[in-house]
Amino acid sequence: MAAEKFDAIVVGAGPAGNAAAYTLAKAGLKVLQIERGEYPGSKNVQGAILYSDALEKLIPDFRDDAPLERHVIEQRVWVLDDNSFVGTHYRSDDFNKPPYNRYTIIRAQFDKWFSSKVREAGALLICETTVEELLMDGQRCIGVRCDRQGGEVYADVVILADGVNSTLARKAGFHGELSAGNVALAVKEILFLPEEVLQQRFNVKEDEGVVIELMGTVTEGMVGTGFLYTNKDSLTIGIGCMLGDFKANPNRTTPYAMLERLKRHPSIAPLIEGGEMKEYAAHLIPEGGFNAVPQVYGNGWMIVGDSGGFVNAVHREGSNLAMTTGQLAAETVIAAKAAGKEMSAKTLKAYKDALDASYVMKDLHKYRNMPQVLHDSPQFFNAYPKLVNQAAKTIFTVDGIDKKTKVGEVLGSFRASRRWRGLVGDAFKLWRAFR
Ligand SMILES: Cc1cc2nc3c(=O)[nH]c(=O)nc-3n(C[C@H](O)[C@H](O)[C@H](O)COP(=O)(O)OP(=O)(O)OC[C@H]3O[C@@H](n4cnc5c(N)ncnc54)[C@H](O)[C@@H]3O)c2cc1C
Repeated sequence: MAAEKFDAIVVGAGPAGNAAAYTLAKAGLKVLQIERGEYPGSKNVQGAILYSDALEKLIPDFRDDAPLERHVIEQRVWVLDDNSFVGTHYRSDDFNKPPYNRYTIIRAQFDKWFSSKVREAGALLICETTVEELLMDGQRCIGVRCDRQGGEVYADVVILADGVNSTLARKAGFHGELSAGNVALAVKEILFLPEEVLQQRFNVKEDEGVVIELMGTVTEGMVGTGFLYTNKDSLTIGIGCMLGDFKANPNRTTPYAMLERLKRHPSIAPLIEGGEMKEYAAHLIPEGGFNAVPQVYGNGWMIVGDSGGFVNAVHREGSNLAMTTGQLAAETVIAAKAAGKEMSAKTLKAYKDALDASYVMKDLHKYRNMPQVLHDSPQFFNAYPKLVNQAAKTIFTVDGIDKKTKVGEVLGSFRASRRWRGLVGDAFKLWRAFR
């Protein structure tokens, strides 16, 4: 690769990198995007739900040709014990009217499509090339060094969209080592099922979809959740827990074993029965929230997407945040270029200001206590799922015992497990986490 200068280099072709490269190229800037995978999407793992909002702002007519699986009309949240669940379902016909708000997608296909839009907009994409380090001139980032023929490429600004591991930012000293307490390790499978079977099982018509978010005893008290999403002719099922919890778990349960247990759960097994495995993948998810977001700009560099830890722990909409951060970073560069400014830290601070003013930092700030509260409260993943399921069983079993006695029994079980002080303390913790 000859030493060549670009307006911007974007490292990574996930949602964050694609959003940044697309916005920059569309504004007429000379953009190089470098992706280590064989093609965009080949290295990426996601559930996956696509939230329309961020993409719509970039490509308003994305629905015309994006590879979308099903639009989501029903959201379920299930709390599992070992053989039952208590849950809520929200299904609305409003979600069944275009323009749809959420879709299930297959990331490999979606990233390929998004990347085709980036290239149409004029960015140059190089795949199967890993950026090994940032080129620094003192405190200023001036380009990247790639593994291919030791290639050096220069740019006014480098946008790091290299995902959760972000070795480049760590190597350059922009942020510290990834902490096991700030990331979750998730595994997922895609299971093929005929379309008609899937539609019958989930009570949906063509193109309509259901998502189920899961939590409970399956994670053995570790902070973690599972999910089951309907695609066109497949299901995605997965589960993830904090990496630090996996390490500390005395049972040494592996993520794979946990996923197998989830698949065997009596409430899940009938939904996935006959599913033929098409894909298995594992990936990290940044879960540190607001307090774990590092410095995201400096002289000649910016960090976007998972690389900056921009994942909202409550709504799991990482790709939405990734696209928004990519767009905001690109818009900062475009404005600086138009004003003839240098890509100094002082100029690029506008990116952080834009993030602070957007839903990205506002939502992360709102749930800033969540990671710590969950970390300190294994009872939400173990004791309470057992208690609520047992309570439902007691109340719904008709066995000649009067209802007053049953309610007393249920309250007694909560008191015995957590004591009044524990119950009040847990309610306070939840209020603190969600307020
Ligand atoms: C199991 C699971 C389920 C999820 N479910 C959802 C969901 O339903 N909805 C949602 O919105 N989010 C979900 N997320 C989160 C979402 O996947 C991420 O937030 C999103 O992918 C972040 O996008 P990104 O572009 O920042 O990073 P990535 O998608 O990780 O992309 C980074 C890219 O950079 C490339 N790269 C890395 N290093 C280099 C290098 N040195 N040189 C060149 N290229 C490099 C990688 O190959 C990759 O293509 C889920 C995540 C997981 C793991």
